[in-house]
Amino acid sequence: MRALLVTPPKAGVRLGETAEPAPGRDEVKVRVTECGLCGTDRDIVAGKYGTPPEGRTDLVLGHENLGKVIEVGAEARGFHVGDDVVATVRRGCGVCRFCRTQRSDFCETGFFTERGIKGRDGYLSEYYVERPEYLVRVPRPHRLSAVLLEPLSVVEKAVTQGTRVLDRMEIAPGKAPNRPRKALVAGTGAIGMLAALVLASEEFEVTAVDRHGDKTPAATRLSTIGAHHFNVSAGLSVLGEQRFDLVFDATGSAVLDFDLTSRLGTNGVLVVTGIPYGGGPMLSVPGGEILRRLVLQNQAIVGSVNANRRYFEAGLRHLTDFRRRWGTVAEQLISHRRPWTDYGSVLLGARPEGIKTVLTIGN
Ligand SMILES: [Zn+2]
Ligand SMILES: [Zn+2]
Repeated sequence: MRALLVTPPKAGVRLGETAEPAPGRDEVKVRVTECGLCGTDRDIVAGKYGTPPEGRTDLVLGHENLGKVIEVGAEARGFHVGDDVVATVRRGCGVCRFCRTQRSDFCETGFFTERGIKGRDGYLSEYYVERPEYLVRVPRPHRLSAVLLEPLSVVEKAVTQGTRVLDRMEIAPGKAPNRPRKALVAGTGAIGMLAALVLASEEFEVTAVDRHGDKTPAATRLSTIGAHHFNVSAGLSVLGEQRFDLVFDATGSAVLDFDLTSRLGTNGVLVVTGIPYGGGPMLSVPGGEILRRLVLQNQAIVGSVNANRRYFEAGLRHLTDFRRRWGTVAEQLISHRRPWTDYGSVLLGARPEGIKTVLTIGN
């Protein structure tokens, strides 16, 4: 079968041939219909990371996936031919207490694998096989947005982490808070936009910031969901005196992350999902001031990565709520759908403008 192959740590990507997998008795075979692309894929293509499966030099790229079940092994339960499915990405180490209880996103050993990223083939191929426990069935109405479910799962976990921290104030159960909770989202790529949607759906008053004006597709979608938008290319001061209960970073900028701590309200939490480059120059930040505020105002900074299956399921519930509230806004985040044979211009050329690029497979 055809597949998009990378050979890390060599840069580059090619459409090549690889063995078509046959499902075991407890596995399901899926024909891939589309895959979303993100910064992780671009980094792998650039040779920055990515690990082939053991004993191989190449790796099938792709982790944001959607496909259709075409074959069900005799002992594979819960799926039928024709089901639309999304597969999770991480596979546990099999040893630690989290991986042994379906929470490999909290793996303690680091010996997990990830499809399309670390030690396991991804989904940018005509077919893949997988065990049912790693598959999530997509209801029909979400078919056009379901390729966003993997990045949405990452957001679901991160927002859950943040709200758990906020819950530590133990507001009396059943008592409505006396004002809406305020959230600030930094970055309006797919992760930032999905975070804005989830937080708005959870009744946060949402403000999102990026380095663009009000005419972009992201700004337009933000106004659709009733979120505020600010261009912070000249700094966070455009936000005036505003502070926030939950600040969600989706930029990967360490400088901005430290700056964002100044926007935390009393008892606030900064959730960091963007991955800063670790080898950059030393930063000069007011460390004493940041930690002083952290203590005196009960603030927290929490990092969040990956997501387990229950966050994919939470994502499906939110897709239903997004549709109820705002119509097709989720599928509008997919700005480009291109045939996967165009992989060269999409993955090797300049990054396309817009929120999410999706490669369609099977032509
Ligand atoms: Zn991704
Ligand atoms: Zn583990």
